[in-house]
Amino acid sequence: MAAALRKAGIEDFILLEKALDVGGVWRENRYPGAACDVPSHLYSFSFHPNPDWSRKFAPQAEILAYLQDFASRFDLRRHIRFGAEVRSVAFDDAASHWQVTLTDGIVLQTQFVVTAMGQLSRPAVPDIPGQEQFTGKSFHSADWDHGFDLRGKRVAVIGTGASAIQFVPIVADQAASLTVFQRSPAYILPRPDRAHTRLERAFFKRMPWALRLLRLGTYLKYEVRVVAFTRLKGLMRPLGEKPFLKLLGRQISSADLRKKMTPDYPVGCKRILLSSDYLAAFERPTVRLETADIRRITATGIETQDGQQHAVDVIIYGTGFATQEFLAPLEITGRRGKSLRKAWAQGAKAHLGIMVPDFPNFFMLYGPNTNLGHNSIIYMLESQIAHVMRCLKQMDRSKATHVEVADEVYQRSTAGVQRELARTVWAGCKSWYIDAHGHNGSNWPGSTLTYRWRTRWRTLDAYRFTQQG
Ligand code: NAP
Repeated sequence: MAAALRKAGIEDFILLEKALDVGGVWRENRYPGAACDVPSHLYSFSFHPNPDWSRKFAPQAEILAYLQDFASRFDLRRHIRFGAEVRSVAFDDAASHWQVTLTDGIVLQTQFVVTAMGQLSRPAVPDIPGQEQFTGKSFHSADWDHGFDLRGKRVAVIGTGASAIQFVPIVADQAASLTVFQRSPAYILPRPDRAHTRLERAFFKRMPWALRLLRLGTYLKYEVRVVAFTRLKGLMRPLGEKPFLKLLGRQISSADLRKKMTPDYPVGCKRILLSSDYLAAFERPTVRLETADIRRITATGIETQDGQQHAVDVIIYGTGFATQEFLAPLEITGRRGKSLRKAWAQGAKAHLGIMVPDFPNFFMLYGPNTNLGHNSIIYMLESQIAHVMRCLKQMDRSKATHVEVADEVYQRSTAGVQRELARTVWAGCKSWYIDAHGHNGSNWPGSTLTYRWRTRWRTLDAYRFTQQG
């Protein structure tokens, strides 16, 4: 967004960052084995390709370095105020502008607000009875303690999601024993990772068109899979279930364990995970899978509902993130003190995931219903950024000071998204995409091309451009 603003000659903006460096989730998630499960040539900005990715699925440190280098190359750092955590964002009706209050009490006044806080940025540690009694070490995967040596320790991992499957094989290498507490098994497919050779990297540096072609090919390969998620769900069996069962059969020798690791919900309903070494880790004599529910945590370990005591020195929470409280913990109020949290009491929604009525000049990036199960989120973000820029340019042209989505358009478009979601694979189980009311406020129900078309080419009739104040 900042790069797009600068490209358009707009310099009068600041980025508020609560941490002390850029990088977002790639700065926070430093657990061993962290890497992106979207190929890096696609998981990077279209206007800033990186011929130097060392692997097809680059590790966290490289992605973080890419983002930090991006901030420097696009000269964004001078716009960033680090250590600036926002507490509230409120529209001042009298002055017709926004007031942004930081946790240190500083108040900023601004014409526009764009949020870019992500959906996976607040670690969720479940409230298990007895946690405070545990005398060993415990931490969340997004808050990994690299100073703590796991060698020789008895380790428990709670959770078997995208993060856990990446660090479990490495923890298994180090720990004296490892018990993985699984609530629901995941569909896992092999990760077709490999190193990029020096020759390939040199070639991509010299031939940018070849890199663009590779990116396009990867994009299309991922994009066609949307059909299986949204329309022809039967395709999920050959595309997801069969290769999963094949991998399971190859890597797990015990029939009992294979049964425990086979999900009972439709493929794709929770995120499909990629790993070629997670399942194999359970073949080690020191690694155990525990499927009994956790009853409580004791001073010395974990007690399961069947009364078993699991003595451990370390508990690692691979329990994911608070995904359903969009933009939390910020207090956001629009016109006439309208609270965004209250407006979203029955589930978060926004027109194209970007705008909500009564919140003029307030745009969201990676807002409600813009998450994907099949392709790179960067593509969606670039669509959103281009859309915000379109709105700003239209304001310039029409000499408007305010832009706001019309209520009837918002109602129609968000109801349409929910109607379409009801037909998708995500309607088939409980996952982090769905909130306590059964509302899917996370995923976009169609292709990323449809989204791009709607954000880039559809008229801006959905919005009211006005002059105020
Ligand atoms: P997650 O997918 O939400 O997984 C959390 C795991 O913890 C699940 O297995 C969940 O079980 C379990 N869990 C939660 N509360 C529990 C409790 N009280 N008792 C027992 N188990 C509990 O979280 P994540 O692995 O951190 O990943 C979140 C998302 O971040 C991913 O879906 C992905 O979008 C992104 N991510 C991406 C990458 C990547 O690119 N490679 C890596 C990491 C994360 P249930 O399934 O039963 O709820």
